[in-house]
Amino acid sequence: MFIVDAHEDIAYNALHHDRDVRRSTVEQRAREASAPPDDADSSGGQTLTGMRDEVMIGLPEHRRGSVGLVCSTIFCMPEENQEAVTADGWAQMRYYQALAAEPDDAGVRLIGSRADLDRLTHDHATAPSPERRPVGFLPLMESADPIRDPDDLEQWYAAGLRIIGPTWRGSRYCGGTGHPGGFTELGLRLLAEMERLRMILDLSHMADDAVWQALERYGGPIIASHTNCRVILPTDRHFTDDQIRAAAQRDVVIGVVLHNGFLVAGWKREQGPVELDAVLRHLDHVRELVGDARHSGIGSDFDGGAGNQSTPRPFDTVADLGALADGLRAHDYSEDEISGILGGNFLRTFTGALP
Ligand SMILES: [Zn+2]
Repeated sequence: MFIVDAHEDIAYNALHHDRDVRRSTVEQRAREASAPPDDADSSGGQTLTGMRDEVMIGLPEHRRGSVGLVCSTIFCMPEENQEAVTADGWAQMRYYQALAAEPDDAGVRLIGSRADLDRLTHDHATAPSPERRPVGFLPLMESADPIRDPDDLEQWYAAGLRIIGPTWRGSRYCGGTGHPGGFTELGLRLLAEMERLRMILDLSHMADDAVWQALERYGGPIIASHTNCRVILPTDRHFTDDQIRAAAQRDVVIGVVLHNGFLVAGWKREQGPVELDAVLRHLDHVRELVGDARHSGIGSDFDGGAGNQSTPRPFDTVADLGALADGLRAHDYSEDEISGILGGNFLRTFTGALP
């Protein structure tokens, strides 16, 4: 099994919360237990639930759990100072470049082309032991705030950026979660430049108008890295049934977000964990709507919006993503469908989309 996780905020955590992805989760949890994080950062080191959760991501766990490819994000907290946001974005890009430059076959590899992807899946499958598995990082910008102007896109592309979600909670480019609206003039220029470079567009967090505009006019490849079903979670953060159907028609793969608050309506931290069935409800719903299981994947968002205490059981760390297969089997998914959801569907998209 080659697992793909389409959404992990790795660089943001490394640069803003001292969560170096090279450390195991055991080591990182011990560090954080003995030294509470500095809450000076604008997000206060907190999750959406207002409490800091235990870390779930670490390269040793990716390797052990056969997570071979991660869409590693560049995520910057929105702020007024454009120069500061752009500098933060570049610092995160350089963090990934530095990881990939370390001389280690079983280290991080930046994935920028189909050839990179082929080498990665080959070396992953033939690694002498799980500890020697390489992990591919495919850079994804969550909200295009760091991009000062669409004219700069070529520089970002040259540095390795391949996927852009133009917005988070609204941006200069288009409406986003909690901020309705379509694409601005600047946003349309960004789309045109992305299309020229054949970059992958990420629909996650787009406001409804922007989703429809994007599906209608974007001629390049599209994904939704981490989005659930609005019929189960009634907020604009997730897709309506019409959007899911329309996205599937464009062969968009939608990553299921593994955060309790995005799985179960009204979930509160005090309620404790939820079970895997909460995840399956979303996947089953997409399968029912579009008639196949080729348009679902995983976009865990582990350590982004939340961590261990806000994640369904049995996921303790990213090493446990494979446990989703057991739940899918119990819901009568075929082995082909299961390997598709765990990685094959996103791999199909990336193989077709990358240069
Ligand atoms: Zn997000």
